[in-house]
Amino acid sequence: MTISVFDCRMCGHCCQGRGGIVASAPEQERLAAFLGLDVAEFRERYTEPQGKKTVLRCGDDGYCVFFDRDKACTVHPAKPDVCRAWPFFRGNLADAVSWELAQDYCPGIVAESGHAEFVRIGLAYVQDTGLAKSGREDEAGALRVADLCGKTEES
Ligand code: SF4
Ligand code: SF4
Repeated sequence: MTISVFDCRMCGHCCQGRGGIVASAPEQERLAAFLGLDVAEFRERYTEPQGKKTVLRCGDDGYCVFFDRDKACTVHPAKPDVCRAWPFFRGNLADAVSWELAQDYCPGIVAESGHAEFVRIGLAYVQDTGLAKSGREDEAGALRVADLCGKTEES
């Protein structure tokens, strides 16, 4: 996805770090189907528990087990919603300071666009793609932006 407020540089930074990628039950089913596995086998091979959540495993290099340095995400068509939504997480949409700090982490965020434009494009993206969730739907804790979308619709 290339848009004026975000242009992924494929650096892989967001695919690094253990426990960061939550995979809900529907997302596990989607990934298992993509890989031609049953869900139990997928969970055994590629996930691990983190509290009450299930997260994708990391390799010894600290990157997501599905990250390839040459190909980037090897499960792109089926990747979890949290991967589809970045950088349009609630914190970055609701708070300009978070958005500024996120630019140090993610070189794909286009600072020149300004936060207001980031929010406008980001909310449209998460709504159009069905990624905007309400509280109970959001296992990852980053996609609870339905209320922000609602505010936009009302304004
Ligand atoms: S950190 Fe940003 S620029 Fe790097 S791969 Fe992730 S989304 Fe793309
Ligand atoms: S599923 Fe793909 S996009 Fe998500 S962290 Fe793993 S390699 Fe990165």
